[in-house]
Amino acid sequence: MLSNTMKAMLNIVLFGPPGAGKGTQSQKLIERYRLLYISTGDMLREEIKAQTELGKQAQATIERGELVSDDLIGRIIEAKIAREPEVAGILFDGFPRKVSQAHMLEALLEKLNSRLHCMLSLEVPQDVLLQRLLERGKVSGRADDTEEVILNRFKEYEAKTAPVAEYYRQKGMYTAIKGTGTVEEIFERLTAEIDKAAAK
Ligand code: AMP
Repeated sequence: MLSNTMKAMLNIVLFGPPGAGKGTQSQKLIERYRLLYISTGDMLREEIKAQTELGKQAQATIERGELVSDDLIGRIIEAKIAREPEVAGILFDGFPRKVSQAHMLEALLEKLNSRLHCMLSLEVPQDVLLQRLLERGKVSGRADDTEEVILNRFKEYEAKTAPVAEYYRQKGMYTAIKGTGTVEEIFERLTAEIDKAAAK
């Protein structure tokens, strides 16, 4: 259905633990490259706010700092893409978060007759992450930005999400990016890698 218009897509995964700066950098990247932004976390929060069936199903899990089911994630992503059939590419933020989701992504991009161009991982020491998230919690109003839940999110990350990095490393697609410094410095590092990947 979508295949012919999608060939020149630029598809990027922005990866990293909670608090790595994925959301901040994503806003700048989608503007620079005119990409469809798929943040599964943002989409889930919207579903919760609207108290949809899906939002209600996800809420308690998110508030514990655990990962929601692949089924729910697949549904919100498919719905988003179906609403935006013609895009220059997609920036994924917060997905894939499990190896099973990396397989989902592969199938999805194949269906769009496209591929993943790069997987960029923002690397930030854990003490900095915790500080950033506690600061964010003061203004974000996010139920999962409290210390207890943040520590649970780190645990989930180590157990389920870190193996995703290994998965892409083995495919030769993993690029680590230093995630400390100014927003602008980090942005420069990301765009340098994206421009390289897009030229291939
Ligand atoms: P984020 O805004 O990316 O930090 O996501 C907030 C929360 O939403 C996470 O702690 C999970 O509970 C849930 N979530 C977001 N993306 C995913 C995903 N790809 N798989 C499972 N759960 C997710």
